[in-house]
Amino acid sequence: MTHNTVAAYAAPAPKAPLERTEIPRRELGAHDILIDIKFAGICHSDIHTARAEWGEGGHFPIVPGHEIAGVVAEVGPGVTRYAPGDRVGVGCFVDSCRECDNCRAGLQQYCTGELGMVGTYNATGRDGQVTQGGYSTHIVVDENYALRVPDGIPLDAAAPLLCAGITLYSPLAHWQAGPGKKVAVVGLGGLGHMGVKLAHAMGAEVTVLSQSLRKKDDGLRLGADHYHATSDPAIFEELAGTFDLILNTVSADLDLDAYLGLLRTGGTLVQLGAPENPLSVSPFALIAARKSFAGSMIGGIRETQEMLDFCGEHGIASEIELIRADQINEAYERVLASDVRYRFVIDTATI
Ligand SMILES: [Zn+2]
Ligand SMILES: [Zn+2]
Repeated sequence: MTHNTVAAYAAPAPKAPLERTEIPRRELGAHDILIDIKFAGICHSDIHTARAEWGEGGHFPIVPGHEIAGVVAEVGPGVTRYAPGDRVGVGCFVDSCRECDNCRAGLQQYCTGELGMVGTYNATGRDGQVTQGGYSTHIVVDENYALRVPDGIPLDAAAPLLCAGITLYSPLAHWQAGPGKKVAVVGLGGLGHMGVKLAHAMGAEVTVLSQSLRKKDDGLRLGADHYHATSDPAIFEELAGTFDLILNTVSADLDLDAYLGLLRTGGTLVQLGAPENPLSVSPFALIAARKSFAGSMIGGIRETQEMLDFCGEHGIASEIELIRADQINEAYERVLASDVRYRFVIDTATI
């Protein structure tokens, strides 16, 4: 890093292709670490943000990327948790108020303080500067918002764990997926494939509900016990009342009542994807068997570390396609076409 200016790939304006640029990174504060980024995953949220599809506009140019894996290069004078050479990750946020009930409980992703959860990119940090993400060669982050990547996980395949991995791990842990529990994962994409691996490693009986049987072999190889095509309406009768937990990773509009019908009494359908349009649920689909319709968003720092350690113990990582930085725009198109198995990861040495 020279003069705190680093190479990055940014969206210069909404809908414009991403291009190489240079961005400043802040001086190391007492508790900051400088990370030499090795790999950055491409999350669907990156595309929504780079194209300003979530309505709030954006602080362009935007450097996306919140699935970051790298190695600590330097540490500030007050840093106690990390040393140069450590393998680390950064996920979807880089700060939060640290004082609200949720922050104190380790649920920084649900921070209710004035600062709120500070996203890794396109957010305003406590220094008033707009954050820039992981499609870059380096990042400076507070040590309390970095994660340790276990030695057993290759850094490239570890990167997507920081968003896709924790997004699935947190609801599986919260709703206690494990032996004797039947878990369904709706959609076998970047999120869904992590759900299958994690739920299987937790000991649950795992079913994939996908539009077609196109990825059935993959699903079974990744740990699913069953695989069904939801394009076949008979499935909804055959599997009625089956699952304790359904994780919906699909952002498209779904017939939620049909999926609620697949839950056992007391079961929970958890929404993880964020469709553009409001969803509709018939109250009777919930009332008639004490079912819940819930949501969940990533996970806090402590739980994200727990997820990484769990992945290290169980030999779990993401299935990835490694790309060069100049392939990012093409990769975006392929993500939108669901043409990736299962996560694109940028080799940041090519930026
Ligand atoms: Zn993400
Ligand atoms: Zn807070």
